[in-house]
Amino acid sequence: MATVFSHPAVPVALALALGQKTIPRPLLIAGIISSVLPDADCFGFILRIKYESQFGHRGFTHSIVFALLVALLWTWRNKELLAARKTVFFYTFIAGLSHPLLDALTNGGLGVALLWPFSTERFFFPVQPIPVSPIGKRFFSEDGFSVFISELSLIWLPCLALGGAGFLSRTFAKKP
Ligand SMILES: [Zn+2]
Repeated sequence: MATVFSHPAVPVALALALGQKTIPRPLLIAGIISSVLPDADCFGFILRIKYESQFGHRGFTHSIVFALLVALLWTWRNKELLAARKTVFFYTFIAGLSHPLLDALTNGGLGVALLWPFSTERFFFPVQPIPVSPIGKRFFSEDGFSVFISELSLIWLPCLALGGAGFLSRTFAKKP
């Protein structure tokens, strides 16, 4: 995985670009939850589920179908999220799907089961510039810290630059 601190970069950047009217605070929180939820599969290690199993790490929770199901659940609660169904669906779907796509850009572990349940094949992108995050106690080691720093430049910086560009164009578009 990219670290749990970096996956929210996508929903945060989108919210910044689209503004609070389109993405109200409760919807932003739903997007952040969707972006980190796939790594709940790490609990599988405690249950001794093998990494390479479809129910292991980067298995079914890292699929398009999982992102769709989570987005549909949020869409069902759209009134509490203070946004239209279509907005809730697309925002939480993109936030959820960004997780396996970012993981597929990391340079370690197994790939993501993006096409589950139709295929259990694990996928990586041809280029993997993001160093993989150490799992468990090693996450708090020096390795974990240097991964976090590199994610700041490889994930947060580009996301915030795009989000900021969206924010600026929205702000200037309003002016007569
Ligand atoms: Zn992951």
